[in-house]
Amino acid sequence: GTKKSPPNLLSFDASHKSKPAPTASKKERNFVKKMKEQVSVGPQGLCVQDLDIVRGRNVIFFYGSQTGTAEDYAARLAKEGSQRFGLSTMTADMEEYDITYLDQLPEDFLAFFIMATYGEGEPTDNAVDFWEMITQQEQPEFSKSSESEDPEKPLKNLRYVVFGLGNKTYEHYNLVGRTVDKRLSELGATRIAERGEGDDDGSLEEDFLGWKDDMWKAVAEVMGVDENSKNKGPRQPAFEVVEKDDANLDNIFLGELTERKQTNGTRPIYDAKNPYVAPITTRDIFFNSDRRCLHGEIDITGSGLTYQTGDHVAIWPINAESEVERLARILSLTDKLDKVIVVKSTDPASTKPHPFPVPTTYRTVLRSYLDISAPPSRQTMSSLAAYAPTDKTKEILTRLGDDKDEFRVVVADARRNLGELLEWVAQADSEATSFSTIPFDLIVESLSRLQARYYSISSSSKAHPNQIHVTAVILDYKPTSTPERTVYGVATNYLWSIHSQLNRIQDGSPRYNIEGPRGIYVSKDSDTPTIKLLVHVRHSNFKLPRNPALPIIMVGPGTGVAPFRGFLQERAIQKRDGRDVGKTLLFFGCRRSDQDFMYQDEWPTYFEKLAENGSRMTTAFSREQSTKVYVQHRIQEYREELWQMIQQGGYIYVCGDAKNMARDVNGEFVRMAHELGGMTEEKAATFVKDLRGRGRYQEDVW
Ligand code: FAD
Repeated sequence: GTKKSPPNLLSFDASHKSKPAPTASKKERNFVKKMKEQVSVGPQGLCVQDLDIVRGRNVIFFYGSQTGTAEDYAARLAKEGSQRFGLSTMTADMEEYDITYLDQLPEDFLAFFIMATYGEGEPTDNAVDFWEMITQQEQPEFSKSSESEDPEKPLKNLRYVVFGLGNKTYEHYNLVGRTVDKRLSELGATRIAERGEGDDDGSLEEDFLGWKDDMWKAVAEVMGVDENSKNKGPRQPAFEVVEKDDANLDNIFLGELTERKQTNGTRPIYDAKNPYVAPITTRDIFFNSDRRCLHGEIDITGSGLTYQTGDHVAIWPINAESEVERLARILSLTDKLDKVIVVKSTDPASTKPHPFPVPTTYRTVLRSYLDISAPPSRQTMSSLAAYAPTDKTKEILTRLGDDKDEFRVVVADARRNLGELLEWVAQADSEATSFSTIPFDLIVESLSRLQARYYSISSSSKAHPNQIHVTAVILDYKPTSTPERTVYGVATNYLWSIHSQLNRIQDGSPRYNIEGPRGIYVSKDSDTPTIKLLVHVRHSNFKLPRNPALPIIMVGPGTGVAPFRGFLQERAIQKRDGRDVGKTLLFFGCRRSDQDFMYQDEWPTYFEKLAENGSRMTTAFSREQSTKVYVQHRIQEYREELWQMIQQGGYIYVCGDAKNMARDVNGEFVRMAHELGGMTEEKAATFVKDLRGRGRYQEDVW
């Protein structure tokens, strides 16, 4: 395609930018000042028509969010607080404000902390500074600490509420939410409602909905507000969607996630808020009737992007064309998919005036900005019901909103996305041919932003400084409740679509628009076209020991082997460079040696260099004998040798499935300490915990 000039880069404001450069126009980092700014708000907080009240905000919703869920929850709570209780609310990305002002929040104000726990009990990237401040400093410095009469209790004026998002398969379940709660209270602040906790492994959404009701009761009482009829009027849209007939097509955003930076000659910083457009090449590692696995090589030459062995790469997907078309069809938007629209917040003082770059088109919103492929929330069912085209469809949607069990069966377990759900509802009523009655602003409000997916980098930065390798199993499955349907993972099928389009594979999997905005993700300069996609790097703590002479034990079945390919490349280079490299063991498992044994040809070359001290790979092929053999069994088999390596200061690394494998492997090491180390079971468990604490037992699990 021909390349057009980039869009007018100044029209998309603020929130998607990374930290402002010191010279850039300064954004207010004092949130207390921001809250007190007089803004014109209507009687229901978000209504811009009746500007009869001028006041500031008294409730702030901080969020520590990695994949966008905590951010969504903060926005939903802020909206509910405003609409149901007439509170004057604002949401706040933790890293965009200076949290030391917490001690200046007036005592009749309220702060919410919606905090996700990421990985091994870590804060999300945008909450790292706050986390370090409250956990690492015994007496954190707040803005007025030096003048305080009660230095032990700097936050005695602060009233707060916490909701934590976590995952029970991880050891440190909801550590961040719990710790924030504990520390705020130690610093003198008052919690005014029970802390909520959601489990992403169970039903986060139900946990959230279940917590909310009692929380609002407590908040309403403390804030002296009622859920009165005045606040129960018609829905107040959070966004306004305006169609533009006279738009200059060169200036619209067609999938870019950020404006291009004005860098003043310096190299831009690529991060979660400003991903890099990188070329990728792919090859399949295995590709058989029921499973597909891809190896991708992302070229970061000249980008300034760097990584360290063991880091994660984030890939920003788009939605499959079939899903874009499905949702458009049921909303009767098919004919105007390319119409230019501007979507803006109806809250005049919002820190995010636009939810994504605008002006844009309906098609782009559905393809690149909204997560249209995940099941919508139960709360969304009730919001949609109000706009159902017929009585019957209204009744069905209302029931799905009210009845947890029915919702679970029809939406959550069946993993129906919004388009599929509306199709399913429409089937029940011959009069309901479309849901054109649903306003597009409600779609924007109800669906999350499409988020990046993370992958453990499968190359070593020493071996491949200009390339990031990924190893991804393509996700598709048939939900147990509706086995006639296939659900496709968004990002992995995007990768597969790149691979299959480049290699002319036709296997019926979903097609994506891989050419990018105005075709800029494809270059046809050479015989073989190159495709680009959006990426950024996330640094992780999953790292080889500083001293290469220490022995290491790596356990990585399936795609869990990804980072160990990088580790082995790195150890081989260290050895080549004349370093003393300790014993290196890799436990790998898959179904069959002739089916899904990834990188089969590569392992011997790495171990060839390392083998003299007994370094080797041990495999477990679960389906090659009558009883299933997994990596745990192999660990048990070699336990004397492993125990000796641990005695020698060895490091243990576990990567892959968080749910069963990581727990079982942990159990094996505890058993080893018990049986070979002569410890009581309790002591053995503490011993392994201790290894974790000292970074000698590391997990990279998902
Ligand atoms: P999505 O569209 O995001 O769908 C995934 C969702 O589908 C799941 O969250 C689950 O809710 C649901 N689901 C999945 N299977 C089923 C089922 N059988 N029944 C019902 N529901 C189901 N993946 C790799 O392949 N290689 C890696 O190296 C790798 N490293 C990772 C490192 C980290 C730190 C993390 C957090 C994840 C890693 N992942 C890795 C997983 C990866 O990020 C994606 O989650 C995965 O590729 C699926 O993405 P997707 O967009 O294709 O699927």
